Amino acid sequence: MKYLSASIIFFMTTGHVMANIPKVVTDIAPIHSLVARVMGDLGTPKLLIPANATPHEYALRPSEAESLQEAELIFWMGEGLTPWLERTMTNLPKKADVVELLDLPETNLLPFRQTTLFGHHQDDDHDHDRTKDKSDLYKEDGHQDDAKHEKEKAHHDGGSDDDHGHGAHDPHAWLSPDNAKIWLQVIAQKLSQMDPDHQATYLANAAEGQAEIDQTSDDITKILKPVMNVKYVVFHDAYQYFEQSFGISVSGALSLGDASAPSPSRIEKIQHLISQEGITCVLAEPQYNPKLVAAISGNLKTGILDPLGARIKTEPKLFHDLLRNMAKSFAKCA
Ligand SMILES: [Zn+2]
Repeated sequence: MKYLSASIIFFMTTGHVMANIPKVVTDIAPIHSLVARVMGDLGTPKLLIPANATPHEYALRPSEAESLQEAELIFWMGEGLTPWLERTMTNLPKKADVVELLDLPETNLLPFRQTTLFGHHQDDDHDHDRTKDKSDLYKEDGHQDDAKHEKEKAHHDGGSDDDHGHGAHDPHAWLSPDNAKIWLQVIAQKLSQMDPDHQATYLANAAEGQAEIDQTSDDITKILKPVMNVKYVVFHDAYQYFEQSFGISVSGALSLGDASAPSPSRIEKIQHLISQEGITCVLAEPQYNPKLVAAISGNLKTGILDPLGARIKTEPKLFHDLLRNMAKSFAKCA
């Protein structure tokens, strides 16, 4: 009896010391970076979607799908960014606690823009058919039935009832430092619920991470100060959160926020915008064909924006390098 209670006490104390760190999976590299910052030396989350892939359309490799099945805690942006992942996420083993960051009441969201000419909302055409499904959208070749097109324009309503797979909100919400700071806190709380023994560490790491984000934001404000009046054209409508956080002006994009292929008419309108507004810089992205940007940029300046960290080593610092590099790309292209 005496032996038994001693072993129970032994078990409890070692159980306390050797508490299991949750198996965590994240969708994209910036979120991986934030979660890794909170976990610190205690563990490392798994990254589901490689940073050099586009999250808007991706097929998981078997090893990536397997890591999801084994996960205890999952942080992902949500179906607005990765519509193809939604079914997998709803069919996971019950043990997994899933946090959809775009769905949190704390997350600041901006609307999904239905136009790629940001200052000319009324003039833009809605150059895809709202009844088409996502796979058709990617095959879009721009052939439009003009009568149907006009009808569609009349129906244009801002997209709250949209049926394309992208939601009513712009899914690139990690490019807001404020959102990242909120999520650090959420991540720490979720980890603490699963692993209460390390609550103090998770919360302290999150607080340090938040202070680091403030520092990065200050750096970015300085980097962007000389280019506050410059107007840019970007590859796809992914930068609203960054634009609003730091006050820079993106006049238009080649593609909508779901990165669907632009029709010839959309490309034409962007070319018109570039000449009309005196745009001097067009920014491409590592995941997409540079030829499209080259075709419209002519002899304008070009640069690369890397909103997913494709060109950065995956580590806790990635989030900061990603934002800072974006600021430098804007500044350099002015
Ligand atoms: Zn995107």
